[in-house]
Amino acid sequence: MYRFIVVTLISALTACGSSMDYSHSPNFNSNLNRFQHPDGDPSNKKPSELFAMIREFSKRKYDQSEQIGFPVKLSERHELSTFSESVMWIGQSTILLNHKGLTVLTDPQFSNRASPLFFGGPKRVTPIPFNIKDLPNIDVVLISHNHYDHLDRSSIRDLIKHQPSIKFLVPLGLGQTLYKWGVVDVTELDWWQAINLQDVEIQPTPVKHWSSRSLLDRNKSLWAGWMMKWDDFSFYFAGDSGYSSDFKETAKRLGSPTLAAIPIGAYEPRDFMKAAHMNPEEAVKTFEDLKAKYGVAIHWGTFKLTTERMDEPPERLLQSLKDQEIPFDKFRALSHGEKWDAPFSEKM
Ligand SMILES: [Zn+2]
Repeated sequence: MYRFIVVTLISALTACGSSMDYSHSPNFNSNLNRFQHPDGDPSNKKPSELFAMIREFSKRKYDQSEQIGFPVKLSERHELSTFSESVMWIGQSTILLNHKGLTVLTDPQFSNRASPLFFGGPKRVTPIPFNIKDLPNIDVVLISHNHYDHLDRSSIRDLIKHQPSIKFLVPLGLGQTLYKWGVVDVTELDWWQAINLQDVEIQPTPVKHWSSRSLLDRNKSLWAGWMMKWDDFSFYFAGDSGYSSDFKETAKRLGSPTLAAIPIGAYEPRDFMKAAHMNPEEAVKTFEDLKAKYGVAIHWGTFKLTTERMDEPPERLLQSLKDQEIPFDKFRALSHGEKWDAPFSEKM
């Protein structure tokens, strides 16, 4: 996120804000003319704090993982075409999941950079495990919010070039952006607003984060986690979030998920990042708050965004699981491109 801020400051690129009227949403503050979490917007930093963060990032210690990346499990097209009853972490917050014939992709990010610029901004450190054209047929794409490591124009354009009729579900305010990019089937939803797709109930849920792609569009679109409920299985995608009471509330209202995708990376310097990104210990608290049966780690090891070592999040995840006496095989940090079938053999 930090480098987005730098890129945004220097480029002040075109806004993708929506001109729709969202005053009907309880999550839209009409006075401020933007969406708002009940906890306010603690991620909105003063320029002096931003520059202090930039200084700290530029002085960061040498990070070997930033240079060499992480091991990748490569997949061939024919293997992916039979992808079934499984989850795969592709990288960052991109998850491929299939259950009962419905194939889901979250926050597709297959690009070389998480940035509006092809020559600057966070560069991918771990290669993609396969190309977009090799993906199996996707039924639905879930988008958490519009930050560049989650909503990537060229990935989406490439995806719809190969699979033009995919359904995209997005939080309020993102529809226009996707239509502009050529997506034909987009449904915007507010937090807790459910829709039914092939007998699966899908709805966005509140998380503590923010949105922006330029200097001019802060919180003009909503951000969200997502819950998907089959009759015998459920999947929760936390998207991008600081730790908050939202997860307990989500489990209370919608039940505990069989599998939860929870972010574990991009959390230092802590004071700066805390409101927007949880650390691994908070990710384990989130797992416990949700009372999820299984957890899969996301949002680490793909783009260098913040000052912690890139290999620190999975180490701290393991330590925190140990401290909380949670078996390691319940909440896993998969390798990029690694498949995991276990959550699908034990149903709700
Ligand atoms: Zn974000």
